[in-house]
Amino acid sequence: MQYRDFIPLVFPSELHTFVIAGPCSAESEEQVMTTARSLRDEAGVRIFRAGLWKPRTLPGCFEGVGEAGLPWLMRVQDELGMQVATEVATREHVELALKAGIKMLWLGARTTSNPFAVQEIADTIGKNDAVTVLVKNPISPDLDLWTGALERLRQSGVERIGAVHRGFSTYAAKTFRNPPHWQIPFDLKRRFPSLTVLCDPSHISGRREWIETLCRQAMEMNFDGLIVESHCRPDEALSDAAQQITPQTLATILHRLSVPRRQL
Ligand code: PEP
Ligand code: MN
Repeated sequence: MQYRDFIPLVFPSELHTFVIAGPCSAESEEQVMTTARSLRDEAGVRIFRAGLWKPRTLPGCFEGVGEAGLPWLMRVQDELGMQVATEVATREHVELALKAGIKMLWLGARTTSNPFAVQEIADTIGKNDAVTVLVKNPISPDLDLWTGALERLRQSGVERIGAVHRGFSTYAAKTFRNPPHWQIPFDLKRRFPSLTVLCDPSHISGRREWIETLCRQAMEMNFDGLIVESHCRPDEALSDAAQQITPQTLATILHRLSVPRRQL
């Protein structure tokens, strides 16, 4: 098969590199604003992530605040001047997020694994050059499924598309929560050399102790950027507490990595 390349994403210029950070889940207005402000002022982050609709593996866990959190994310956008990103998994999520004014969406690993869900989301966004859509790899180590989701979005007319590598599920004995299988994102880059591919060390490792090492590895392997889970009080997080770091820790990591400022 012949693969047609994607257009690289452009991102805020004063940033170290393409760094997206924020909590796994938006939990309260205070948590969102406190985390976002620290990420901006202390770590230099310009793009804020927070999940509103959380695709939990088991029922009975915190499933996100849903649309109640949209105004909080809009405060981050309007008052703090950051771009904001949230996860969408259904037509309704897309409609609500776009109506609220969110300009960056991502498809989670479980959604990328489901072509019907991807198609529904792609059709709902439709022809659009204002919204950026990031596609996380599917939970299974399947490059075609990842490629298929990217293509469905492009074929529906979405112009700003990027990918996120967050590791892959396995039942084998493992160190990482989702082993990275680096060959798969490398092969994705071989198919699409200009595609923007970010690394998500948080969901790969599952543990905050390993975030710095993974960030360093990702930079050395020429990933185009990072998406890192960060919470103002990580131990109190309602989802993925073990892997979240404070904005101050992220600032230290980025400093130690000497993540280069972008040359324009
Ligand atoms: C998330 O980003 O919080 C998330 C649910 O990630 P993933 O889809 O990679 O599991
Ligand atoms: Mn998470």
